[in-house]
Amino acid sequence: AEAAGGGDKEAVRAYFNSTGFERWRKIYGSATDGVNRVQLDIREGHARTVAATLSMLRDSPVPLAGATVCDAGCGTGSLAIPLASQGASVLASDISAAMVSEAQRQAEAAAMAASDTFRMPRFEVRDLESLEGKYDIVVCLDVLIHYPREEAKQMIRHLASLAEKRVLISFAPRTLYFDFLKRVGELFPGPSKATRAYLHSERDIEDALRDAGWRVANRGFISTQFYFAKLFEAVPIAAASQ
Ligand code: SAM
Repeated sequence: AEAAGGGDKEAVRAYFNSTGFERWRKIYGSATDGVNRVQLDIREGHARTVAATLSMLRDSPVPLAGATVCDAGCGTGSLAIPLASQGASVLASDISAAMVSEAQRQAEAAAMAASDTFRMPRFEVRDLESLEGKYDIVVCLDVLIHYPREEAKQMIRHLASLAEKRVLISFAPRTLYFDFLKRVGELFPGPSKATRAYLHSERDIEDALRDAGWRVANRGFISTQFYFAKLFEAVPIAAASQ
């Protein structure tokens, strides 16, 4: 297995500072010009994952207002910005400097139009493996798809070590059907497939969380035609509640 910090990470960083940045900024944006049908479908799926994450967090007994949240691999700020609007104190970090400056730009625009509960997130260019500190809530959406099994599990254990109350993680699920689709995809790589996509089994994600002392308390499954994600909300095993 590839060690963290190996080839995958450097390739991912380079991709999200160049073609990947342009591609995903477009997908996560709101403009429809030059956005194809597949990208629109992925935009819709991702928006549902963000909405499902926000609703899990709102339903949890941990109040969002005033909570410290670490959004690891924040991208353009799709989740960090609505969390900031609810009064959470957010660290928005990403391995890509291009993504972080775009997230910052969007947060500044949101702050202009915002309610008085908006708290400007702290932005940091940083890979999630080197994040430090303690947060009430740690969230990591649609990042693990870029890393193979052992690296992904190591990342989860690290993210869980930063969290005190909740860990929320989304990932593309590995099932026989998706394995099949992926193999077909590898036979016909499109021009935009600059990085590999890794699917993960629920079992692997749960095992990594359990190793770190967390159990999955809530699950979501989001799917559109071209987008698939499992969303796990984990709580500390030891605590009776909260
Ligand atoms: N979480 C965001 C969202 O759901 O809107 C962005 C998802 S995007 C598909 C994946 C993001 O993960 C990119 O912004 C990429 O730069 C970031 N990323 C990839 N590897 C990372 C790492 N090791 N540490 C931090 N961020 C990483």
